[in-house]
Amino acid sequence: MSQISFVNNQFINRDQAFVSIEDRAFQFADGVYEVILFKNGKLIDARPHLNRLFNGLSKLSINHNFLQDEIVENILQLFKKNEMESGSLYLQVSRGVAKRGLLTPRGIEPNLVMTVDDHKEFNDEEFTRGVKIMSADDIRWHMVDVKTTALLASSMAKQKAADAGYDDALFVRDGVVTEGTFANFFFVDQDGVLVTKKLDNLVLPGITRARIIDLAKKQGLQVIERDFSLDEVLKNAKEAFLTSSTLLVRPVVQIDENLVGDGKVGEVTKVMRKLYLDFINS
Ligand code: PLP
Repeated sequence: MSQISFVNNQFINRDQAFVSIEDRAFQFADGVYEVILFKNGKLIDARPHLNRLFNGLSKLSINHNFLQDEIVENILQLFKKNEMESGSLYLQVSRGVAKRGLLTPRGIEPNLVMTVDDHKEFNDEEFTRGVKIMSADDIRWHMVDVKTTALLASSMAKQKAADAGYDDALFVRDGVVTEGTFANFFFVDQDGVLVTKKLDNLVLPGITRARIIDLAKKQGLQVIERDFSLDEVLKNAKEAFLTSSTLLVRPVVQIDENLVGDGKVGEVTKVMRKLYLDFINS
């Protein structure tokens, strides 16, 4: 069966789904996107994802008439048409189609496209192995709190890390650790406190990040959101992990040539993974 995708209110075969070459996302990365996990017939944290999408649209002044309930209904239809019970959703909204020019075009309709894919969860063996990440200069622009389709810096950093034998890159800007190329970063300090970067314009407010903070606090763990340096992580981290809608909770066992803690997946990371898996499977 050919895969079905969604383009502006139409369900259409993926290989026949097109937008114009004058789409603003194609020419200017003038669009925002979301990736949402779908597990056993249920969308995980759909509302926070769509709230972040709508915030992004408003920060970019992209006018639209979308309704969250309608989007959710179309997402569920899309998985149903693809006969999928679990998977991941990619949703992108561009400003729309206009003659190329730097000024923001007025009176155009945004393009909404959605595709679905399989989601492979990491098995226990992969989890236990953890990932090695390489620090990288964060050369992205200063509005990464908006989830735009401008991912070239992330793509290049991830490729450079992969070429050097690492699983991912860890962005550092002016000495401050920001996040991974497509995930937020947490570490556990010597006192067992869970630390992650405070929210500002230099980090994406991850939906999984927020959920992990909530689950950790409910578990009685102390969580601090603040800026920290790579040096501090290398000196003080007993454990570290990445979070995202598709990675879930992924342990980091090495940063550059340094082991994190004893180089093994730590207890807090294991607990957080279990709590998160329980949450998405509930
Ligand atoms: N940070 C960046 C730069 C990302 O691209 C992503 C997800 O794609 C995340 C963090 C994690 O966000 P979420 O948990 O909402 O998937």
